[in-house]
Amino acid sequence: MPELPEVQALAAFLDERATGHAFASLRVAAIAAMKTFDPPLSALDGARIEGVRRHGKFVDVESAGLHLVFHLARAGWLRWYDEVPATPVKPGRSPLALRVRLDDASGFDLTEAGTKKSLAVYVVRSPDEVPGIARLGPDPTAPGFTLDDFSGILDGRRTQIKGLLRDQSVFAGIGNAYSDEILHAARLSPYLLAAKLTPEQLDQLYRAMRDTLAEAVAVASGRPPAELKDAKRRAMRVHGRTGETCDVCGDTVRQVIFADSTFQYCPGCQTGGKPLADRVRSRLVK
Ligand SMILES: [Zn+2]
Repeated sequence: MPELPEVQALAAFLDERATGHAFASLRVAAIAAMKTFDPPLSALDGARIEGVRRHGKFVDVESAGLHLVFHLARAGWLRWYDEVPATPVKPGRSPLALRVRLDDASGFDLTEAGTKKSLAVYVVRSPDEVPGIARLGPDPTAPGFTLDDFSGILDGRRTQIKGLLRDQSVFAGIGNAYSDEILHAARLSPYLLAAKLTPEQLDQLYRAMRDTLAEAVAVASGRPPAELKDAKRRAMRVHGRTGETCDVCGDTVRQVIFADSTFQYCPGCQTGGKPLADRVRSRLVK
């Protein structure tokens, strides 16, 4: 799933390419992706794009007092064309969800792989009308987001820090991959409860969060959409690297498997060398 750094880069790319151009056509291929009907998508026909921004993992294209907002979910992506294919858009089983053509024939597709479709497109008068945006917590990369703000949010919460980091109503934009990376950089176990962090651990976690995201934003920025997934994968130190050697301590990266997600960590860096309970493994051992 694209997270804050990739979505930031996608928004910046679109801002550079699309701002100042008008929508020539917008065609929905996956009806279920359209989450709003008033105003209709056709209200954007011919409207000039004024700017593109990011809110959490949402992209917001502002145009003529309206906002075309989209969320790529787990398996969604944006494909840019200097010249959009002329083939007609047919609703059906293809990965295509929405095709947008601009007045100079450039444009983009929103696509979604797999059978579980959750890519979401909205046309709203204000971004806050999108429930997922209205619920967002503070942006952890915002210049004014301080250690005090961070500590205040975590204070007294008897929740595991892994879950808090990726909760969009707590911090906007961090998902499974970057929470793994942040916890590895902070040398903290994903299972630690926020309420039990010492002031030193809070400082470590805050700095790891800010540095990890800033580095990832720097890696992603300026890259075209087609390069972002690989750039992200290459920069990961534990996420998606089960069985590989940790380049910090030399231990083997391990994973914990849950019903709906899997995460990675390094025992040497994060859990005093002890592997965390892995539900699948425990079940097999019984
Ligand atoms: Zn390590």
